[in-house]
Amino acid sequence: MSPLKKKAHAPEARPFAYNKKSLFCDGVDLRKLAGEFGTPLYVYSAEQIGYRYELFEAAFQEHTHTVCYSVKANSSLAILKLLGERGAGFDIVSGGELERVRKAFRPALKKVVFSGVGKQVWEIDAALKADILIFNVESEAELGLLAERAAAMGKRARFALRVNPDVFAETHPYISTGLSEHKFGIAIGLARAIYKKAAKNKSLDAAGVSVHIGSQIRSVDPFAAAMERVTGLIAELRTDGHQIRYVDAGGGLGIDYSQGDFDPAAEVARYAAALGGVIEGLGVRLLLEPGRFLVGQAGGLLTQVLYVKKNGAKTFVITDAGMNDLIRPSLYRAHHEILPVKQGKDAGKVDVVGPVCESGDFFAHDRVMSAVKPGELVLIEDAGAYGMSLASNYNSRVRPAEVLVEGRRARLVRRRESLRDLMAAETV
Ligand SMILES: *Cc1c(COP(=O)(O)O)cnc(C)c1O
Repeated sequence: MSPLKKKAHAPEARPFAYNKKSLFCDGVDLRKLAGEFGTPLYVYSAEQIGYRYELFEAAFQEHTHTVCYSVKANSSLAILKLLGERGAGFDIVSGGELERVRKAFRPALKKVVFSGVGKQVWEIDAALKADILIFNVESEAELGLLAERAAAMGKRARFALRVNPDVFAETHPYISTGLSEHKFGIAIGLARAIYKKAAKNKSLDAAGVSVHIGSQIRSVDPFAAAMERVTGLIAELRTDGHQIRYVDAGGGLGIDYSQGDFDPAAEVARYAAALGGVIEGLGVRLLLEPGRFLVGQAGGLLTQVLYVKKNGAKTFVITDAGMNDLIRPSLYRAHHEILPVKQGKDAGKVDVVGPVCESGDFFAHDRVMSAVKPGELVLIEDAGAYGMSLASNYNSRVRPAEVLVEGRRARLVRRRESLRDLMAAETV
């Protein structure tokens, strides 16, 4: 029985909803959280994250698989622990992320896949020492270094080449990665020769093939197209005598950032059907690397309105959160829904902007929303992925605090930075 069936009903796609005209995250009033922990504040629903993870587990139950949550989407230790305890593995891209997995849930180290185009010696060594599941290797030079380090440590490194399937996936150019002109992976046509060469090296174990075509991809067709090219390669590799046991489909399944209906269960089911149809009978463990899909809609950024100001025909709502706290609108022109915590009526068009000294510091342009006054709170929705993990100290602003809501309770999982933290690494 899938774990989902134990629930009377599935949670909504988002944990934020009005209850008597005040916005809640699951069982917790956001006004209470702002009062207790201050703003800007990242608020995450443990229930929603667990639900999304179980959706993946249920959708792929007919295939031998491991869901390796992509740590870079949100690397909060509390979230890693929550997922690790449920059985998740992790997709990492740095030695820092490896350390986070170790700290959050050490038993998951053996379910770590290590991706990234620029792995350094110390990172490779740390991952070999931790005996991670597999290295997703992105160049011949990296494979050479991996062999050298494994030999020096008397180990045999399991690797998958990250192949570039040259598949176009419609998304923002900054987060599309599967075309031959991108810096990622190795052209799929060159892979076979590299595996052949690697077979001669005792320190390397050609255990898998991996692919990742980009992020925030809303159609499942490109995933299936990429996987078809990968399975073609696997057939060739097996002919050449390689024992391929893993196929890594990468991450990238998108979410809906607008107000439209979004059924996460149906989305994962479509995704699983598309991939499953291609890998059927292949006899490999399927590795999946979802990031955004698991945590994106589980989180929001709670912020207080500082000022409301009119310049010419425009009305600006100036919040205490800025682009340093949530850069997605500035970086990708990403849309985020913004909800007043005290429910009101639509009043007019406003620009919601932060205090950072850049005109690019905005959360919304010409957004129709209900009137808000200074001192009131708004929630920027769908900020659980690539929110806090991309936050910076630009303008010497301290990074926000983070709370994890567990039903009717909320727990501070990262305190707000202090001015002392801001300068802790510096000397005069
Ligand atoms: C970023 C990344 C992911 C996760 O992407 P999402 O869009 O958040 O699912 C998975 N695998 C690799 C290699 C990545 O770089």
